Amino acid sequence: MNKLPLAIAVDLCGCPNRCLHCWLGHMPNRDMEPGADEWIVGLFRPYFQQIAFYSWLREPDFCPDYRARWERDKALSVGCQPERFELASFWRLVRDPDYVNFLEELRIPCVQLSFFGMEAETDRYVGRRGAFRELLEATELLLRHGIRPRWQGFLNEENREALVALLGLSRELELSQRCEALGGEFRFFVHAGSCEGENRRLYPIRIRKDHIPAELLPYFLNYDRLHTEAELWESWRELSSPYVPSARGQLVLYVANNYDLFFNFTHMRPEWRIGNLKSDPIKELLRRITEEDIPALRAARGISLGELTRRWGAPDSTRAFEPEDYQSYLLNTHLEHGGIL
Ligand code: SF4
Repeated sequence: MNKLPLAIAVDLCGCPNRCLHCWLGHMPNRDMEPGADEWIVGLFRPYFQQIAFYSWLREPDFCPDYRARWERDKALSVGCQPERFELASFWRLVRDPDYVNFLEELRIPCVQLSFFGMEAETDRYVGRRGAFRELLEATELLLRHGIRPRWQGFLNEENREALVALLGLSRELELSQRCEALGGEFRFFVHAGSCEGENRRLYPIRIRKDHIPAELLPYFLNYDRLHTEAELWESWRELSSPYVPSARGQLVLYVANNYDLFFNFTHMRPEWRIGNLKSDPIKELLRRITEEDIPALRAARGISLGELTRRWGAPDSTRAFEPEDYQSYLLNTHLEHGGIL
């Protein structure tokens, strides 16, 4: 029996959006067969003392029966409860009048909403016309029900000015004052996103550190940890140790709607697949999980960070990265170019 708590997130319901920055990667929405949730928990139950079950890994509460679904997730969990996090479906908020009541009943103090600039940029990045207006409507709805909105903006070279305009809009809407009236602060922050899934494809337009608008600097998440690619290239180019992501005591597994199993380290691409719950024996899957024995991690152990940097990095680039995101960029670029052992 494994003492490590396990969290399992299953893509039971899919997602209404196709965001250009989606770190998980775009996947088709597909209904899983009835009883899939119970069957999946049953596979792991003999081996773990604590299992937190989540029926979503993309958009929370995207399924129409979200109330019953939340009760079911709690009932299926073993020895612990799933968390709610400060997340919700803005798609559902503007379509289902009862959904905000549900969030209120759960006493969620704050909900995070993602923007990519103003209307044109946000609609294009989310992949749906009307997304920006829905986010504004969701903001108002949340405030009316005593829930603070938190706005995050994803910053690239092409939407710098639009995010400055978004900051201005948050001031026009007096979101700070209105959140204060609810007893908390309004948070607005921007960042460049991770280097996984769809966001990795945005490398050509990744924000240059010296191009971050001055107005946004106070709102840049972890700015003190932000480096240019050139700085990281220079300090890593001789490193002989590998970069190997690891669960390190926090085991979170993602289950795709075709039963493929993944760690939560990075995107859900074939090289990161642990196996398939339907076609691989559970004991073999548990061995791969415990030994972190999957193609991507085997490849990661076989190459130094210095080699990755020299092979895939750009020594003269001022693109902005946190170290973890750049490590992930280098490794995933390597894997995508066939660097599998
Ligand atoms: S980022 Fe979230 S909302 Fe956007 S496509 Fe990915 S899972 Fe869906």
